[in-house]
Amino acid sequence: MKRIAIVGGGISGLAAAIALEERRQAGESLQYVIFEATPRFGGVLVTEQVDGCVVEAGPDSFLSEKPWAADLCRRIGLEDQLIGSNDRDRKTYILVKGRLTPMPDGMMFMVPTSFVPSFLSPLFSPSTKLRMLRESRQSRRQSNGDETVAALVERHYGAEMVDRVADPLLSGVYGGDAAQLSARAVMPRMVEMEEKYGSLGRGMLAARKNAKSPEAGPASIFTSLKNGMQQLPDTAVAKIPAEALRPNTAVQAVQRQDRGWVVSAGYSSDQFDAVIMATPAPLAAVLLEISSAELSSELRAIPYSSSVTVALGFGKQVRDALPPGFGFLVPRSEGKRMLATTFVHNKFPYRAPEDRALLRCFLGGSRDEPVLQLSDDEIVGMVRAELRQILGLAAEPLFTRVYRWKAAMAQYNVGHLDRLQRIERLRKQLPGLALAGNAYRGIGVPDCVRSGEEAAAQVLAAE
Ligand SMILES: Cc1cc2nc3c(=O)[nH]c(=O)nc-3n(C[C@H](O)[C@H](O)[C@H](O)COP(=O)(O)OP(=O)(O)OC[C@H]3O[C@@H](n4cnc5c(N)ncnc54)[C@H](O)[C@@H]3O)c2cc1C
Repeated sequence: MKRIAIVGGGISGLAAAIALEERRQAGESLQYVIFEATPRFGGVLVTEQVDGCVVEAGPDSFLSEKPWAADLCRRIGLEDQLIGSNDRDRKTYILVKGRLTPMPDGMMFMVPTSFVPSFLSPLFSPSTKLRMLRESRQSRRQSNGDETVAALVERHYGAEMVDRVADPLLSGVYGGDAAQLSARAVMPRMVEMEEKYGSLGRGMLAARKNAKSPEAGPASIFTSLKNGMQQLPDTAVAKIPAEALRPNTAVQAVQRQDRGWVVSAGYSSDQFDAVIMATPAPLAAVLLEISSAELSSELRAIPYSSSVTVALGFGKQVRDALPPGFGFLVPRSEGKRMLATTFVHNKFPYRAPEDRALLRCFLGGSRDEPVLQLSDDEIVGMVRAELRQILGLAAEPLFTRVYRWKAAMAQYNVGHLDRLQRIERLRKQLPGLALAGNAYRGIGVPDCVRSGEEAAAQVLAAE
């Protein structure tokens, strides 16, 4: 019987465990254990119920176009709990010179695909609008090496597009910096479009045309769960036999020995045929140090950023006074500490009663690590001061919550894909080892689910 250890009980480790459980129930001869350092499984997927509101501490949803998370939800019986974002009310603002300016229609991620709304929008200066016109005639470009997202976007639309759109969007998703993140790792589709079409605008339009099937209904851009994202790990844990769950068990070393692995936690060590490392990469680096110093140093070199989310609940007056839409992004040039704010009650159903407004602010990222050192009161005070400046929101919140996420988001900086190749080569020298998590090929929940499932398949396939 094959024995498999999973180290890390976030969504990546849990997805691996569910994949193994399905194979076990299908009759495969295997046994697995999932080690989690804290008392609860789920990692950064944490939901609190506060004053009738569903408050997300970590991720609030996942991209619908990436199928793996929703598929996992269906397999564990959460199909009827899946909800879509209220895309009819989708509108995102960008703070420009202290004013909320709507992102024009036709912006696909950071690429304008409809000229008229972008030309009429005060979001862009005349020179950026001229760049957009010229961009549609840009010729194909074969790039050999990697470059930053900022370099790619600037080449097409100029520095203003980087400052006002690309950088704030990436701060919101990665807690990252467009001047550091790798275009090939973070936006591979755009790199391909540039190679194939030259113009990103033409590439986006072609991709949209190809993706449209006549039967496909209008899917929501984001998917979440009725009672919050924590439903996913909670339900997954309930599907795993109790003897396979090891909460409160921090693994201290993972060592290759003879033809297998020894996993040490607390005062005990156990033998396994294979190990799935599903912790953040710097922790995997520490645990694997004895087995491969070279692999460990590559894992340690993947940078991570930290973030803070702040939830604020308000009454009906505030809800009525807030602008429509999903929320706003704050470019760095605006000199604020806040990176983004979501109007949660607008973005998803089931998040707040009709007489409540729920705001979620995002701070930190690779350029503001020190924010984590502030006290809760200081963070709330600063967020409220900025909300007052931006929205004129002076009301006393009914409740506030502050969540700190230290080194939780991997940064795919320039050279990330080359590093992954080296990691893969070194991993293969250690039979029975698989790696899962947000450090490798996608930071979002669906990619983490996929990484866990692939890791499970990998260790089962290994001799
Ligand atoms: C604030 C925030 C907002 C986000 N928003 C979104 C979003 O809206 N949509 C989206 O798709 N993605 C979002 N993400 C990204 C996504 O949520 C994460 O990338 C993903 O959940 C990471 O899952 P994971 O299992 O790989 O890692 P983690 O959730 O970090 O889990 C790793 C687990 O390993 C455990 N562990 C660590 N060391 C040990 C040890 N020695 N022994 C045993 N266990 C150990 C930890 O306790 C933890 O539970 C967000 C992330 C953050 C932080």
